Amino acid sequence: AQERYASIRERPAVTLCGSRIEMNMNAGLMADLPSLVGSGAEGVGLFRTELQFLIRNQMPKRTELAELYSRVLDSAHGKEVVFRTLDIGSDKVLPYMKPNDEPNPALGWRAIRVGLDKPGVMRMQLQALIRAANGRSLTIMFPFVAQFEEYRAACVELEKTIAREKRLGHVLPETLKVGAMLETPSLVFAPEKFFQDVEFLSIGGNDLKQFFFAADRENERVRRRYDTLNVSFLSLIEMIVERCARTDTPLSFCGEDAGRPIEALCLAAIGLRSLSMRPASIGPVKSLLLRSDLVQVRRVIDEARDRGDQSVRPAVMEYLRDQA
Ligand code: PEP
Ligand code: MG
Repeated sequence: AQERYASIRERPAVTLCGSRIEMNMNAGLMADLPSLVGSGAEGVGLFRTELQFLIRNQMPKRTELAELYSRVLDSAHGKEVVFRTLDIGSDKVLPYMKPNDEPNPALGWRAIRVGLDKPGVMRMQLQALIRAANGRSLTIMFPFVAQFEEYRAACVELEKTIAREKRLGHVLPETLKVGAMLETPSLVFAPEKFFQDVEFLSIGGNDLKQFFFAADRENERVRRRYDTLNVSFLSLIEMIVERCARTDTPLSFCGEDAGRPIEALCLAAIGLRSLSMRPASIGPVKSLLLRSDLVQVRRVIDEARDRGDQSVRPAVMEYLRDQA
């Protein structure tokens, strides 16, 4: 598939109306990194660090992690890699951690909640990231932030870790960017100060959609019932775009939907300017963006909303058929 899109690999995704959409890829293992060149991705918008923890049968050591993260940065050759701190719990259970008997793991003790309650592992991971950067630029993203205070507390942990590393004589990153994933509806309504403080936000569409519609992302029966292009969900995303625009907060979208061409097109039409997806999706998504006019797509979306359509998908599909 990458051969098919080879001719547009190095081309920036600029739409017919002149909007530039940043195209990043999602990764999680060392084996994903070669795709950074092959796919034409501009960087790694989401590096899921838990995958390294999930494929082992014991907790990785700090030196092992630092080595791995360092190799990831080497292979990125200066392109940005957004390291998401450990997102465990829910569907991602570590075989060597005491299982939690939780009635609703998706709503349970997971991700940043574990990181803040039991900060040992998070500290170890932050140290490994700082040592891996070894003076290079570093970007860290905290997952599953549901309220402002969780982000603040995670930043305090990071600051303490930086101070400790400095005391120990380690080289600090040249630049450090810290952001959060927006994957619970609550965070959309956080105080403006949150949007000002956070250096960037990335919408975790898989979880955000699951919690918005109260529909388990793992449950085929209910998952398909709710379209990402449902007008209510699009309005929520639009609200995030508007809030970020007010505070100049860089925003991206890194859920699976970013890799689906029609979904990606609609996300761009309502204002997203940065998408992160599996490498194989970059070609198809870029190909559609290159021949699209977002102003027109936006008009189709608005008309569908005004008519009271449940999803804008039929209208957008019809528009694309007429264009072809
Ligand atoms: C998401 O929730 O959309 C996301 C990107 O994170 P994950 O799929 O790893 O939960
Ligand atoms: Mg998620």
